[in-house]
Amino acid sequence: MTDEAQVRADDRAHVFHSWSAQGLINPLPIAGALGSYFWDYDGKKYLDFSSQLVNINIGHQHPRMVEAIQEQAAKLCTIQPAFANDKRGEAARMIAEVAPGSLNKVFFTNGGAEANENAIRMARLHTGRHKVLSTYRSYHGSTATAITATGDPRRWPNEPVAVGVVHFWGPYPYRSPFYAETEEQEGERALQHLRDTIVFEGAGTIAAILIETVVGTNGILIPPPGYLAGVRALCDEFGIVFIADEVMAGFGRCGEWFAVDHWGVTPDLITFAKGVNSGYLPLGGVVISDEIAETFRERPFPGGLTYSGHPLAVASAVASMKIFKEEGIIEHARALGEDVIGPGLAALAAKHPSIGDVRGLGVFWAIELIRDADKTPLVPFNASGAAAGPMNDVAAACKERGLWPFVHFNRIHVVPPCTASVAEVREGLAILDEALTVADGFYA
Ligand code: PLP
Repeated sequence: MTDEAQVRADDRAHVFHSWSAQGLINPLPIAGALGSYFWDYDGKKYLDFSSQLVNINIGHQHPRMVEAIQEQAAKLCTIQPAFANDKRGEAARMIAEVAPGSLNKVFFTNGGAEANENAIRMARLHTGRHKVLSTYRSYHGSTATAITATGDPRRWPNEPVAVGVVHFWGPYPYRSPFYAETEEQEGERALQHLRDTIVFEGAGTIAAILIETVVGTNGILIPPPGYLAGVRALCDEFGIVFIADEVMAGFGRCGEWFAVDHWGVTPDLITFAKGVNSGYLPLGGVVISDEIAETFRERPFPGGLTYSGHPLAVASAVASMKIFKEEGIIEHARALGEDVIGPGLAALAAKHPSIGDVRGLGVFWAIELIRDADKTPLVPFNASGAAAGPMNDVAAACKERGLWPFVHFNRIHVVPPCTASVAEVREGLAILDEALTVADGFYA
C-alpha cells in the first residue's frame, strides 16, 4: 500500500471527523506544509487562503516556532497548572502587555470554546447573575455553554444543552435586520434593540454580553461606527460583563493585536485561541480585567483544566508573540488588507455580478455571492461536499487551480496567513477571479 493509500485507509476506518456525516466525506490526505502553502501526497500545492480554520496567522512550519517547541520539549514537556512555570508566566505577561486597559491576568485553556465557557463562568460568579446575551449570527465553540451561546444553526442539533442564554440580533448592514439604510442607522438601531432586550430580560438577571468583536464564520461582519462603544456603555449602565470573543479576530487577523483596538473599546474579558500561537499546539485563554480578577482574590475560581498553560503550548505562544513583534506581522497584515486584499476584492466585485458585498479588514475578508439583484444567496453549500451546489462548484474551481478557500454558506472568506506575501495574495486573487466566472454562471 502506498503512504497515501494507508493514510486514507486508516482515516476511513478509524477517524471520526467533526461536523460531518462520516460516510459522506473524503478528506484529502496532507503530506506537508510551509509558509502559505500545504500539499498533498501527489505533490499538488495549495495556497492556503483559509489559514486552516483561520488560525495559522504566522503561516505553516515557521522555523522559529518549530525550534521553540523542540527546545521546550527537551527541557520540560509538562507540569501541572498549580506550579509556576517560566514560559507560562512569560506568555501571560506578553499577552497582558498587548491587551487593552487593565486586562492584566490570563487564564489559559486548550482552545476557544473552553475560553468562552470559563469567561461566562467568571462573569456569572462576578455578577451573581445567570443570563448571557449573545448574537444569532455567531459561533462560540462546540462545548456545552459555548454551543448554546452560538447563534447559528450549529446550535440546533445540540439543543437542549445549557440554560440561561438569550440571543439578539447584531448589526449586519448588507442584510439589515433593522431595515436600516446606512451603517450609522444600523449601529443605532442595533443598540436600541440590545437595550430593549436587556430591559425585557431584566437587567438584574444578565451576567454577560458575549459578542465576536468582528463576527467570523457568520460572515466577517464589521461593527458599524459607535456600536462597540455603545455595547460598552450599556454594560456599564446595567452592570453587565462585556466579553469580547476574539478567538478568530485576535492576534493580527484584523491588523491589530486585538480587533477591539480598531475602535478603542476595552471589554472586561477577552477570549482568544487560534492566532495566539497559530495552532501549533492547542491553546486558548481568557484575558481578565483587574476588577474581575479581584473577585477571585480571596474566593477560589471553581474551574480548571489538567493542561491549562501547558508548557509546550505556552512556549509556542511566547515564540509566536516574538515573531509578531520582531517580524512586523501586525503591520504587514494591516497593509495587506488596505493595499492589496481590499482593493483587489473591490476590483473583482466591479467585474463579477455574483459578488454582492465585499467587507473586511486586515487579513479577515469575505465576499458574499448572490444569484440576482435581490441579493438571493448563492447556495446550497454543503461543507462535507455531499450535496452538489453552486458554492461547491466555486470551491472546486478554486481547488483545481491550487487555491484552498474558506467557504461558508454563500460566502468565500479571504483569510490567508498574516505572513502571506503580496505576490501570494495576488496569486490567490487571480485564481479567485477565474473561479468566480463559475459563480457568475448562476447569476440571472
Ligand atoms: N469563538 C470563535 C469566534 C470561533 O471562531 C471559534 C472557532 O472557530 C471558537 C470560538 C471555538 O474555538 P475552538 O474551536 O478552539 O474551541
